[in-house]
Amino acid sequence: MSEPLPVVRQVADLRSCIAGWRKGGMSVGLVPTMGALHDGHFSLVRASTLQNDRTCVTLFVNPKQFGEGEDFGTYPRNEAADADALAGLSADLMYAPEGDEMFSAGSVTAVSVPGLGDWLEGEFRPGFFTGVATVVTKLLLQAMPDTAYFGEKDYQQLCLVRRLVADLDIPVEIAGCPIVRDTSGLALSSRNAYLSAGQRAIAPALNQALGHAAEAIRGGEDIAAATATATAAILGAGFAKVDYLAVRAAVNLQPAGTYDGNQRILAAAWLGDVRLIDNLAV
Ligand code: AMP
Repeated sequence: MSEPLPVVRQVADLRSCIAGWRKGGMSVGLVPTMGALHDGHFSLVRASTLQNDRTCVTLFVNPKQFGEGEDFGTYPRNEAADADALAGLSADLMYAPEGDEMFSAGSVTAVSVPGLGDWLEGEFRPGFFTGVATVVTKLLLQAMPDTAYFGEKDYQQLCLVRRLVADLDIPVEIAGCPIVRDTSGLALSSRNAYLSAGQRAIAPALNQALGHAAEAIRGGEDIAAATATATAAILGAGFAKVDYLAVRAAVNLQPAGTYDGNQRILAAAWLGDVRLIDNLAV
């Protein structure tokens, strides 16, 4: 049995714990999450514990990144199980602030990243990336780690965090970690818990279609033709709607004209009322 994981809920306690580590000359890794942890999150924690003397995992279901009618109220929450799993992975601290610790009464300041925050996910989830950028900025400034770890699963979020850290001179290195998938190729996600058995069988079609399109583009097929074929395949498999399916520059998600060997294919699609996202290097 591993020792129970220490949990702090106040910024002051987080800072005093990290200040103690700093005094001892230790490096600090931060892994921001919304909880309901799975192997995707754990891969970030492992990267951090390998590369740092101390690892703090944050758990905060950020109300500012959920739109009207989205699943803020029902988002899976299981802090006790998360803490147990993190203790087993040798994480050192969980920071799980309450909503009013993160956003006190009267707080109005927001961080927005025009362009990157408006395309793709931003187009279909207005306000989403301002919510993400604001909370990530706060977590980075609260903890001031050496390195913060983000998954390529949310590739646009990773690009946006790199941008905001550069723009705001936040002295934290941002590490991107590869997408963890199950054996069917489905990217692990806390929201996969919403899928019925039937939907679960259809879901891997999203990753398969992206994989075929990436291969076709690398083989010389026109990007527009390959993305149209992939969209049709996803709908044909039983998805209800494709919000977007696009090839973009890997570094900044600018639209891509022709294949240049440094692009990413990204998609969001609805399976019933569950929205899945995925992406791959092209
Ligand atoms: P979330 O709890 O969904 O906000 O995710 C917290 C962090 O875990 C984000 O940086 C995600 O990109 C990352 N993450 C979530 N799922 C995966 C996955 N399947 N593989 C890699 N990273 C992931």
